Amino acid sequence: MTDLVNLHISDALDLLNKKEISSVELTKAHLVEMEKGRVLNAYITETPERALADAEASDKRRANGEKLGALDGIPIANKDLYCTKGIRTTAASKILSKFIPPYESTVTQKLKEAGTVMLGKVNTDQFAMGGSTATSYFGVTKNPWGLDLVPGGSSGGSAAAVAAGLCMGATGSDTGGSIRQPASFCGITGIKPTYGRCSRYGIVAFASSLDQAGPMARSVKDCALMLREMAGPDQFDSTVAELPVPDYTLALTGDIRGKKIGIPKEYRPNGLNPEVAKIWDKGIQLLKDAGAEVIDISLPHTKYALPVYYIVACAEASSNLSRYDGVRYTTRVEGKTLDEMYENTRTDGFGPEVIRRILLGTFVLSAGFYDAYYTRAQRVRRLIYNDFVEAFKQVDAIVVPAAPTPALSYEAFKNMSPVDTYLGDVFTTPASLAGVPSLSLPIGLSDGGLPIGLQIIGKHFDENTVFQIGDVLEKSAGFDLNPHRVKG
Ligand code: GLN
Repeated sequence: MTDLVNLHISDALDLLNKKEISSVELTKAHLVEMEKGRVLNAYITETPERALADAEASDKRRANGEKLGALDGIPIANKDLYCTKGIRTTAASKILSKFIPPYESTVTQKLKEAGTVMLGKVNTDQFAMGGSTATSYFGVTKNPWGLDLVPGGSSGGSAAAVAAGLCMGATGSDTGGSIRQPASFCGITGIKPTYGRCSRYGIVAFASSLDQAGPMARSVKDCALMLREMAGPDQFDSTVAELPVPDYTLALTGDIRGKKIGIPKEYRPNGLNPEVAKIWDKGIQLLKDAGAEVIDISLPHTKYALPVYYIVACAEASSNLSRYDGVRYTTRVEGKTLDEMYENTRTDGFGPEVIRRILLGTFVLSAGFYDAYYTRAQRVRRLIYNDFVEAFKQVDAIVVPAAPTPALSYEAFKNMSPVDTYLGDVFTTPASLAGVPSLSLPIGLSDGGLPIGLQIIGKHFDENTVFQIGDVLEKSAGFDLNPHRVKG
């Protein structure tokens, strides 16, 4: 029998269309796997009834020869940051732990209309702040490559679930690396599209000028299939570009001869982890072998990306999270005065990392420090953006590591200072600040047998080239996707 939980979405669609399998069979296989995989703590909320109802409806559409969505019958999971109508959406926080949204996010609505089956809501760092899922109110997710390891974050539940066969694909969101770094830690593929490619409507906001939705799956093609359904203009989000969404799968030509690929020297600091450097060099060699032209480039303001990101992201977070006040959305902790009620509700409802960022953000926006921090950070952000624009006059794409290390152990992570954990975002924040698309895909294993991914960064709205190069790299790297899963 086909191993239903290890299929790629593209293969499952073929089997469904040939009526060799049904969506109900496919969905049931995933529900069984989810049960076996509970030890990973990937799901915050499982929705088996909804999943089976979705699957039955899909099978019926197929049997009746009705019009099908592009992903009809495919079981997926949604990051628990996406509002799902009538289904609890927590942002992995205590303050939203009982929140049942009265409306659906645009992206999950589009995926629903594409015929997907929703298996449940997956774990994330609290309000997507973090790189490990360790800040989740619902506990850390475990990495299927080793139960003592973090899956990365914030979309760590998505990454672990995809890697372990607990769903075929998942939504993630990426503000400063939250799709790309967990994809690297778990040996899967994910893309942060161009800022403005997908609607943010109904995604719990972290930093609105950076937040971007994206797919996570087990192949470049699967991400291309999912993104096509997720992207596109939306009357509820004016920051989405009024551009047509191409069929990204048509970009997967298998031919990248003559493509110019930039390798920025700033991403190779002294002391770069040698295993990461080795995988990067392997990727570069594979690109050369495929006929691409590899060019050394410079992105001179790279070193400022991390501090700029943490100023801008915290500033926006402090403003976005002011809405959780005990009056709207949330459970309230009473106090003698209104101010005391706010204080009690927020002190009780937010975890320490979220509080830290609200305080940092409030500080950089305060009257005496606004210009010194926030205004200056905005200016430097423009320089980082300009670096990419300049580089893309010379090259078609840029290839760099996704993360400075393979997955870390939870023990090691717990003992790190907040600033040390922020350093893990060093390779992902520049593309976020510039708003350019970036795909992360696994290229090989560390000496210890852990996956390591590379990013392919493209021009604004040129996801096509990113997918095209990613597809060639994926095939030439021949990465074995199966973690040595440990299941309870
Ligand atoms: N790890 C980064 C942070 O903690 C990125 C998070 C994200 O992209 N949501 O802010």
